[in-house]
Amino acid sequence: MIYIARQLIEKNNINLPFVGDVGAFRIYDDDVEDRLPENILYKKVNDEIKYPICFKNSSTNAYEFDFAGSRIGSEFILIGGPCSAESDEQIFKTAKYISSLKMKFFRAGCFKPRTNAYSFQGLERYGLELCRRACDQYDLKFVTEVKDLSNLDDVYEYADVIQVGSKCMYDVGVLRELGKAKKPILLKRHFGATLIEYAQAADFVASHGNSSITLCERGIRTFETSTRFSLDSSGIEWMKKHVDLPIIGDPSHAMGFSYGVEGLSLSMMAQGVRGLIIEVHPNPSQAKSDSSQQLNFDEFKKVKSKIEKFRNLLENVL
Ligand code: PEP
Ligand code: MN
Repeated sequence: MIYIARQLIEKNNINLPFVGDVGAFRIYDDDVEDRLPENILYKKVNDEIKYPICFKNSSTNAYEFDFAGSRIGSEFILIGGPCSAESDEQIFKTAKYISSLKMKFFRAGCFKPRTNAYSFQGLERYGLELCRRACDQYDLKFVTEVKDLSNLDDVYEYADVIQVGSKCMYDVGVLRELGKAKKPILLKRHFGATLIEYAQAADFVASHGNSSITLCERGIRTFETSTRFSLDSSGIEWMKKHVDLPIIGDPSHAMGFSYGVEGLSLSMMAQGVRGLIIEVHPNPSQAKSDSSQQLNFDEFKKVKSKIEKFRNLLENVL
C-alpha cells in the first residue's frame, strides 16, 4: 500500500520530489521510480508500466478492515440479493428471506449499467429508498452499485457498502470521489481489464484516502461464448500474491447460468476468497435483469448450505 511506501521512504531518508498530501497518503511526482528501492512504491511490470499499486507488503494475505460492521479478511462475507431492485414486493420478500438465513448483507442494484438502452435501467432513487427501508426492517447491510458521478451522492446517502460495477471500473472520476468516501468499496473487475489495470483502479481510490477496498473477481471476456464470462482463477492467485486487499468472488456473473453458481462458489472458496456475492430472486424467470443466473430461494438455500459445509472442511486445509 502507498502509506507503507511512505513509511519506508521516510525511514530510509529518501529524498523525493513532494507533490502533496492526499488524505493519509503522500503523492510524489512521476519520475520517482528510478530512485525508489525496488518493488516498493512503483512496480516495474514491464518497461512501460511503472505505477503505484495497492501492493502487498507481506505474504500473509491477512489484510482486513471494517466492512459495514463485519471484519472482511477474517470473517467470511456472504452477500445475497437480486440483480436489480424491481418492486416493493420483490425487495421486501428477498430481504426477509436473506435475513431468515441469518445473513448480514443484502445487495440490489438501483442504477443499472445496461448494455441495451431499451432494457430496464433500474428504479434509481426510489429503489435506494425501498432497499434502505427493507434493510432497516430486517437488520441487513445494504450493498448497492454506483453507476456514474450523477448518482454517486444518492448511492452514498443510502448504501452501507458502495459497489463499483465492472463497467464503472475505469471511471476515474467515480474512483477518485470514492477515495474521499468514508464507506467500504466493493470494486469489481472490468471484464476486459488486465490485472494490473484492476490494481491501478484500486489505487485511484486508495490514493485519495480510502483504502477500505474489497476486490471482486466476476469473470472476464474470453473467446468462450457458452458461458457468460470466464472465471479468472489464475487472476485470483495473482491478486492474492500481489495486491494487499481482500478478494471476494461473484460466481453469478462469471457463469451467467444458475446451474454453475455452486461449483464456482466452491472453487473460489478453495482459492481462499474472503467472501461471495450471489444473485437470488423470488422468481428468477421474471427478473428484469440477469434472469438466467439468479437462484430462486430454494436453490440459494442449498448453495448456502454447501458453502457452510465447505467452509468447515476448508478450515483444516487453508
Ligand atoms: C451486478 O452486480 O449485477 C452487475 C451488473 O455486475 P457486473 O458489474 O460485474 O457486471
Ligand atoms: Mn447482475
